[in-house]
Amino acid sequence: VVPCPFCELASGADEDLVALRTQDAFVVPVTHQRRLNRGHVLVLPARHVTRLADAEPALLAEVYSVAGRVSMAVRTAFGATGSTIFQNDESPDQVLMHLHVHVVPRRAGDGFTMPAAAKDELTRAERCEQAAALRRALAP
Ligand SMILES: [Zn+2]
Repeated sequence: VVPCPFCELASGADEDLVALRTQDAFVVPVTHQRRLNRGHVLVLPARHVTRLADAEPALLAEVYSVAGRVSMAVRTAFGATGSTIFQNDESPDQVLMHLHVHVVPRRAGDGFTMPAAAKDELTRAERCEQAAALRRALAP
């Protein structure tokens, strides 16, 4: 059995990548990002949940309220004017089967499309920098 990479992050495998932790959710930058939408992050439940329908209402409330906070913080952290928030549920676009909500920083003229025309793979260091920038923007 291949361990779930998001459960590993949830359990503290790489805290430098985690921009925020709440009681039952956490936030990490995605590995592949559109060039004009840097700062694309995921909001995830800390426990393994596959589908939206499997998440308790209280958990969804927490995940989406965190997504709301992050949607504001990406303005400060990444110079976004807004964001696009979405979630893929199973086939064909959910690849890692641990529920996650995408928050994509947006700005005018970024040419955002779904699916992405092209994405770049970020280094761990680049993702850690993004996590740190978001952490600062989320600080009270
Ligand atoms: Zn998992």
